[in-house]
Amino acid sequence: MKYIIVGAVAGGASTAARLRRIDEHAEIIIFEKGEHISYANCGLPYYIGNVITNRNALFVQTAASFNKRFNIDVRTLTEVISINRKSKTITAQTQVTGEMYEESYDKLVLSPGAEPIRPQLPGIENQGIFTLRNVADTDYIKSYVQQKVVKKAVVIGAGFIGLEMAENLHALGLDVTIVEMSNQILAPVDFPIAAILQQHIRSKGVNILLNTSVKNFEKKETQLKLSLSNDDVIDADIVILSIGVKPDIKLSVDAGLKIGDSKGIWVNEFLQTSDPNIYAVGDAIEFNNPITNKPMITYLAGPANKQGRICADNLAFGNTQKYKGSINTAIVKVFDMTVAVAGTASKHLHQSKIKHIVSTTISGSHAGYYPNAKPMTIQIAFSPEDGRIFNAQIAGYDGVDKRLDILASIIKKNGKIEELTEFEHAYAPPFSSAKDPVNMAGFAAENILLKKSFIFYWNEIDKISSDDILIDVRTKNEYNAGKTGNAINIPVDEIRNRLSEIPKNKNIFLYCQAGLRGYLAQRILIQNGFHNVLNLSGGYQIWETCNKEINLTKIKVATNELH
Ligand code: FAD
Repeated sequence: MKYIIVGAVAGGASTAARLRRIDEHAEIIIFEKGEHISYANCGLPYYIGNVITNRNALFVQTAASFNKRFNIDVRTLTEVISINRKSKTITAQTQVTGEMYEESYDKLVLSPGAEPIRPQLPGIENQGIFTLRNVADTDYIKSYVQQKVVKKAVVIGAGFIGLEMAENLHALGLDVTIVEMSNQILAPVDFPIAAILQQHIRSKGVNILLNTSVKNFEKKETQLKLSLSNDDVIDADIVILSIGVKPDIKLSVDAGLKIGDSKGIWVNEFLQTSDPNIYAVGDAIEFNNPITNKPMITYLAGPANKQGRICADNLAFGNTQKYKGSINTAIVKVFDMTVAVAGTASKHLHQSKIKHIVSTTISGSHAGYYPNAKPMTIQIAFSPEDGRIFNAQIAGYDGVDKRLDILASIIKKNGKIEELTEFEHAYAPPFSSAKDPVNMAGFAAENILLKKSFIFYWNEIDKISSDDILIDVRTKNEYNAGKTGNAINIPVDEIRNRLSEIPKNKNIFLYCQAGLRGYLAQRILIQNGFHNVLNLSGGYQIWETCNKEINLTKIKVATNELH
């Protein structure tokens, strides 16, 4: 059997290596238009920021080592420029000489990845404006920063790569501004989780401009001038364009392969394209999202690598393994903070008209009495009908990855809230609490489902009318340090003795710092005959963080977009 693979990084290299492991006698040729194969794209921002100092460490394999270990014919600097499906051949062109030649295949695998979006804005061709996709881009950026006088950087687009670049350029001593068109950073998370990270980034001296886009670039002497949608002009010595990527589908379109609704290469559950002899994996394919059941493109290394393995098995053994889709589990470290997400954010669940409840809990990363416990905010979204979990988002400093991975594996298996409450973890004070933050998220959600707890959200405070009662159940000192709305203060530990101060015929809204004391007060009130008692999910802390961000940026967002 003769296999040809197009693209030799995440999905392509993974497919090739697995193919060889299961078929020692196959002929495998892998084409890569770039100079390098199987390199660590995910490490590139950290090499620019000097966190990774050894450039060679970025190369997981070289063409020579890949050939030696796997006996795979690796053709770098060679672009596949067309596919002739009738004759089952591809045409390749070597970049060095321009020579073109044909190569036949029995089965073809496409893993061409995604390309950064570079909008046709006036002045975008000026020197100093970069995108980051590969090692060559990385080398350009790094040498530009080293050789020119570069003091000010603007990162356009606040996705995962944009934020990593902002941190790494800041680490090099640059004055960094992030320009983001949306009303928040990190599109895959909801506003409150983004707001927590926005505050953290701002605290490090990085400027974030939200609801702002760039209209054009001009070069004045050595500096770039960026005209913004709000008519401001900002200076930059270097610009990183990180506004997103799109699947690289040119080859597939020209070959007449089916392209899906999300403009990715259409594949079936066996990762087979509309041509049974051609398979495709990675950033270029689209696949139904297991939660929304709508076609979606996942731009993540984990799915690309895992698809490579499935694809190789299907090539070698016939279509035996099904790909089940990705829930977009992702994580990013920005300065001291980590944000991670799995599943479909509430704002996107709303768009897909999927009914859900959002609950936010704030727990310590480990036992509070053991040094250095840090707060961790967990937001989950789940079905009001059967408790199926659709989404988890975490912002914190320590142990975020562990909790998110647990939640992701439960979401991936269509797990329900009861799996969070029953989840059994390894506990000792340096690692967790006897009730892990994942359990706590489950307990709060279960209380909501069992109608033992009723919640409202930070962006509904303004809806509380003068006929309602808003009670801050924190201590007097906390209340005096800052309250919301027209809240009166009845600390939770006094509430049993002060029930007579609270009218029974009114709607009662409670809040504390993080949500727990509000819940305790709510249980006391409900069991003393009070009705319509609601507790603020995530407490004052979430309200304060979101409001700080809203006041800073004067953003306006529909209520249901925010939780
Ligand atoms: P790629 O790995 O991009 O490989 C595609 C290859 O195909 C390219 O090398 C390209 O040159 C080659 N090619 C395309 N067309 C042709 C052709 N016609 N002929 C020959 N060769 C061709 N994901 C995460 O999950 N976590 C992270 O932390 C993370 N960080 C990232 C940081 C950066 C800077 C970047 C750019 C990406 C990051 N990603 C991360 C995304 C991840 O790298 C991709 O999802 C993954 O590499 C996709 O694999 P792929 O095989 O589809 O495409």
